[in-house]
Amino acid sequence: MENINIEDIKKIMCIISDIISENEKKLSELDGVIGDGDFGYTISKGFKAIKDKINKNDEDDTSKLMKSFGMIMMKNCGGASGPLWGTGFINVSDFTQGKEVFNLKDISGMIGSFIQGVKKIGKADLGDKTFLDALIPAYNSMKNDVEQGEVNIVRSINKASKEAEIGAEKTKEMVAKKGRATYLGDRSLGHVDAGAYAIALLFKEITDKLPSEN
Ligand code: ADP
Ligand code: MG
Repeated sequence: MENINIEDIKKIMCIISDIISENEKKLSELDGVIGDGDFGYTISKGFKAIKDKINKNDEDDTSKLMKSFGMIMMKNCGGASGPLWGTGFINVSDFTQGKEVFNLKDISGMIGSFIQGVKKIGKADLGDKTFLDALIPAYNSMKNDVEQGEVNIVRSINKASKEAEIGAEKTKEMVAKKGRATYLGDRSLGHVDAGAYAIALLFKEITDKLPSEN
Protein backbone atom coordinates (compact mmCIF):
# COMPACT_ATOMS: atom_id res chain seq x y z
CA MET A 1 0.00 0.00 0.00
CA GLU A 2 1.60 3.25 -1.14
CA ASN A 3 -1.33 5.67 -0.89
CA ILE A 4 -4.40 6.06 1.26
CA ASN A 5 -7.45 8.30 0.99
CA ILE A 6 -10.17 9.60 3.29
CA GLU A 7 -12.00 6.25 3.28
CA ASP A 8 -8.86 4.48 4.53
CA ILE A 9 -8.40 7.19 7.15
CA LYS A 10 -11.97 6.64 8.34
CA LYS A 11 -11.33 2.88 8.59
CA ILE A 12 -8.13 3.46 10.56
CA MET A 13 -9.88 5.85 12.94
CA CYS A 14 -12.62 3.26 13.54
CA ILE A 15 -9.95 0.63 14.28
CA ILE A 16 -8.44 3.03 16.82
CA SER A 17 -11.84 3.83 18.31
CA ASP A 18 -12.64 0.14 18.80
CA ILE A 19 -9.34 -0.83 20.40
CA ILE A 20 -9.41 2.16 22.74
CA SER A 21 -12.98 1.33 23.79
CA GLU A 22 -12.11 -2.33 24.32
CA ASN A 23 -9.28 -1.24 26.62
CA GLU A 24 -11.16 1.48 28.46
CA LYS A 25 -10.90 -0.25 31.83
CA LYS A 26 -7.23 -1.10 31.47
CA LEU A 27 -6.37 2.48 30.46
CA SER A 28 -8.25 3.93 33.43
CA GLU A 29 -6.52 1.45 35.74
CA LEU A 30 -3.12 2.58 34.47
CA ASP A 31 -4.10 6.23 34.93
CA GLY A 32 -5.35 5.32 38.39
CA VAL A 33 -1.89 4.23 39.51
CA ILE A 34 -0.13 7.56 38.87
CA GLY A 35 -3.06 9.84 37.91
CA ASP A 36 -6.76 10.12 38.71
CA GLY A 37 -8.08 7.08 36.87
CA ASP A 38 -10.21 8.80 34.23
CA PHE A 39 -8.05 8.42 31.13
CA GLY A 40 -9.70 5.25 29.77
CA TYR A 41 -13.18 6.67 30.19
CA THR A 42 -12.37 10.06 28.77
CA ILE A 43 -10.36 8.92 25.75
CA SER A 44 -12.92 6.19 24.91
CA LYS A 45 -15.71 8.74 25.05
CA GLY A 46 -13.84 10.92 22.58
CA PHE A 47 -13.05 8.11 20.17
CA LYS A 48 -16.58 6.72 20.35
CA ALA A 49 -17.85 10.17 19.30
CA ILE A 50 -15.30 10.17 16.47
CA LYS A 51 -16.66 6.82 15.27
CA ASP A 52 -20.21 8.18 15.46
CA LYS A 53 -19.14 11.09 13.29
CA ILE A 54 -17.58 8.72 10.74
CA ASN A 55 -20.72 6.55 10.70
CA LYS A 56 -22.79 9.61 9.85
CA ASN A 57 -20.86 9.64 6.59
CA ASP A 58 -21.36 13.38 6.14
CA GLU A 59 -17.82 14.51 5.42
CA ASP A 60 -15.66 13.84 2.38
CA ASP A 61 -12.94 16.40 2.94
CA THR A 62 -10.02 15.11 5.03
CA SER A 63 -9.04 18.47 6.46
CA LYS A 64 -12.62 19.24 7.55
CA LEU A 65 -12.93 15.73 8.98
CA MET A 66 -9.77 16.23 11.03
CA LYS A 67 -11.07 19.55 12.27
CA SER A 68 -14.29 17.90 13.39
CA PHE A 69 -12.25 15.23 15.22
CA GLY A 70 -10.40 18.02 17.02
CA MET A 71 -13.62 19.68 18.11
CA ILE A 72 -15.10 16.31 19.14
CA MET A 73 -12.08 15.50 21.33
CA MET A 74 -12.16 18.93 22.96
CA LYS A 75 -15.86 18.58 23.68
CA ASN A 76 -15.98 14.94 24.77
CA CYS A 77 -12.70 14.29 26.59
CA GLY A 78 -12.31 15.67 30.04
CA GLY A 79 -9.00 16.28 31.78
CA ALA A 80 -5.83 16.99 29.90
CA SER A 81 -6.77 14.74 27.00
CA GLY A 82 -9.42 17.02 25.45
CA PRO A 83 -7.18 19.99 24.71
CA LEU A 84 -4.15 17.82 23.91
CA TRP A 85 -5.77 15.44 21.40
CA GLY A 86 -8.10 18.20 20.19
CA THR A 87 -5.27 20.57 19.31
CA GLY A 88 -3.40 17.64 17.74
CA PHE A 89 -6.24 16.93 15.32
CA ILE A 90 -6.75 20.63 14.55
CA ASN A 91 -3.08 20.81 13.54
CA VAL A 92 -3.56 17.76 11.31
CA SER A 93 -6.51 19.57 9.75
CA ASP A 94 -4.26 22.48 8.79
CA PHE A 95 -1.63 20.11 7.43
CA THR A 96 -4.08 18.18 5.25
CA GLN A 97 -5.78 21.19 3.71
CA GLY A 98 -6.22 20.64 -0.03
CA LYS A 99 -4.87 17.08 0.11
CA GLU A 100 -6.89 14.01 -0.91
CA VAL A 101 -4.32 11.28 -1.40
CA PHE A 102 -1.74 10.51 1.23
CA ASN A 103 1.54 8.69 0.76
CA LEU A 104 3.94 7.67 3.53
CA LYS A 105 5.51 11.14 3.59
CA ASP A 106 2.07 12.72 4.02
CA ILE A 107 1.10 10.27 6.77
CA SER A 108 4.32 10.88 8.63
CA GLY A 109 3.65 14.62 8.18
CA MET A 110 0.17 14.18 9.65
CA ILE A 111 1.58 12.48 12.74
CA GLY A 112 4.27 15.18 12.97
CA SER A 113 1.68 17.93 12.89
CA PHE A 114 -0.39 16.12 15.54
CA ILE A 115 2.70 16.06 17.76
CA GLN A 116 3.33 19.77 17.14
CA GLY A 117 -0.21 20.54 18.26
CA VAL A 118 0.19 18.47 21.42
CA LYS A 119 3.51 20.16 22.20
CA LYS A 120 2.07 23.61 21.56
CA ILE A 121 -0.64 23.14 24.16
CA GLY A 122 1.02 20.77 26.65
CA LYS A 123 4.66 21.91 26.49
CA ALA A 124 5.88 18.35 27.00
CA ASP A 125 8.69 16.64 25.12
CA LEU A 126 10.50 13.32 25.05
CA GLY A 127 11.30 12.02 28.52
CA ASP A 128 8.46 13.79 30.36
CA LYS A 129 6.47 10.52 30.76
CA THR A 130 3.53 11.32 28.50
CA PHE A 131 2.06 9.73 25.38
CA LEU A 132 4.64 11.67 23.36
CA ASP A 133 7.23 9.18 24.64
CA ALA A 134 5.53 6.53 22.48
CA LEU A 135 4.33 8.77 19.64
CA ILE A 136 7.57 10.66 18.91
CA PRO A 137 9.70 7.49 18.46
CA ALA A 138 7.00 6.05 16.17
CA TYR A 139 6.96 9.29 14.17
CA ASN A 140 10.78 9.42 13.98
CA SER A 141 10.82 5.88 12.66
CA MET A 142 8.37 6.78 9.88
CA LYS A 143 10.16 10.03 9.08
CA ASN A 144 13.40 8.11 8.85
CA ASP A 145 11.77 5.56 6.54
CA VAL A 146 10.62 8.38 4.25
CA GLU A 147 14.15 9.78 4.16
CA GLN A 148 15.45 6.33 3.25
CA GLY A 149 13.06 6.16 0.29
CA GLU A 150 10.53 3.77 1.82
CA VAL A 151 7.08 4.01 0.24
CA ASN A 152 5.30 1.03 1.77
CA ILE A 153 2.86 2.33 4.37
CA VAL A 154 2.11 -0.97 6.12
CA ARG A 155 5.79 -1.88 6.46
CA SER A 156 6.61 1.52 7.92
CA ILE A 157 3.71 1.51 10.39
CA ASN A 158 4.76 -1.96 11.45
CA LYS A 159 8.23 -0.69 12.35
CA ALA A 160 6.79 2.42 14.00
CA SER A 161 4.54 0.20 16.10
CA LYS A 162 7.57 -1.53 17.61
CA GLU A 163 9.13 1.84 18.42
CA ALA A 164 5.90 2.95 20.09
CA GLU A 165 5.95 -0.18 22.23
CA ILE A 166 9.57 0.34 23.25
CA GLY A 167 8.84 4.02 23.97
CA ALA A 168 5.81 3.19 26.12
CA GLU A 169 7.83 0.62 28.08
CA LYS A 170 10.55 3.22 28.69
CA THR A 171 8.07 5.51 30.44
CA LYS A 172 8.35 3.11 33.39
CA GLU A 173 11.88 4.40 33.95
CA MET A 174 10.78 8.03 33.81
CA VAL A 175 9.75 10.45 36.52
CA ALA A 176 6.75 12.45 35.29
CA LYS A 177 7.52 16.05 34.37
CA LYS A 178 4.12 16.90 32.92
CA GLY A 179 0.55 16.16 33.89
CA ARG A 180 -1.06 14.91 37.06
CA ALA A 181 1.58 12.20 37.63
CA THR A 182 4.06 14.95 38.58
CA TYR A 183 2.25 15.19 41.93
CA LEU A 184 3.77 11.83 42.82
CA GLY A 185 7.38 12.91 42.25
CA ASP A 186 9.71 9.90 42.20
CA ARG A 187 6.79 7.60 43.00
CA SER A 188 5.73 7.74 39.34
CA LEU A 189 8.85 5.61 38.66
CA GLY A 190 8.19 1.98 37.79
CA HIS A 191 4.77 2.63 36.26
CA VAL A 192 3.91 2.91 32.58
CA ASP A 193 2.22 6.12 31.42
CA ALA A 194 -1.40 5.40 30.43
CA GLY A 195 -1.29 7.66 27.37
CA ALA A 196 1.91 6.10 26.08
CA TYR A 197 0.39 2.64 26.59
CA ALA A 198 -2.64 3.74 24.54
CA ILE A 199 -0.42 4.92 21.67
CA ALA A 200 1.47 1.60 21.58
CA LEU A 201 -1.84 -0.24 21.70
CA LEU A 202 -3.38 1.63 18.78
CA PHE A 203 -0.28 1.31 16.59
CA LYS A 204 -0.21 -2.44 17.24
CA GLU A 205 -3.89 -2.77 16.41
CA ILE A 206 -3.50 -0.81 13.16
CA THR A 207 -0.57 -3.05 12.23
CA ASP A 208 -2.62 -6.17 12.97
CA LYS A 209 -5.69 -4.97 11.08
CA LEU A 210 -4.16 -3.39 7.99
CA PRO A 211 -3.85 -5.83 5.10
CA SER A 212 -0.33 -7.23 5.20
CA GLU A 213 1.70 -7.29 2.03
CA ASN A 214 5.32 -7.44 0.97
P1 ADP B 1 -5.81 14.24 33.61
O1 ADP B 1 -4.49 14.14 34.27
O2 ADP B 1 -6.26 15.66 33.47
O3 ADP B 1 -6.82 13.35 34.25
P2 ADP B 1 -6.04 12.42 31.36
O4 ADP B 1 -6.28 11.33 32.35
O5 ADP B 1 -7.12 12.78 30.43
O6 ADP B 1 -5.56 13.75 32.11
O7 ADP B 1 -4.76 12.08 30.50
C1 ADP B 1 -3.58 11.62 31.12
C2 ADP B 1 -2.52 11.41 30.05
O8 ADP B 1 -2.29 12.64 29.36
C3 ADP B 1 -1.17 11.01 30.61
O9 ADP B 1 -1.10 9.62 30.72
C4 ADP B 1 -0.18 11.58 29.62
O10 ADP B 1 0.14 10.64 28.62
C5 ADP B 1 -0.94 12.71 28.96
N1 ADP B 1 -0.45 14.04 29.34
C6 ADP B 1 -0.65 14.70 30.50
N2 ADP B 1 -0.10 15.93 30.44
C7 ADP B 1 0.46 16.05 29.22
C8 ADP B 1 1.18 17.08 28.52
N3 ADP B 1 1.44 18.26 29.11
N4 ADP B 1 1.59 16.84 27.25
C9 ADP B 1 1.33 15.65 26.66
N5 ADP B 1 0.65 14.65 27.25
C10 ADP B 1 0.23 14.84 28.51
MG1 MG C 1 -6.57 11.29 34.33
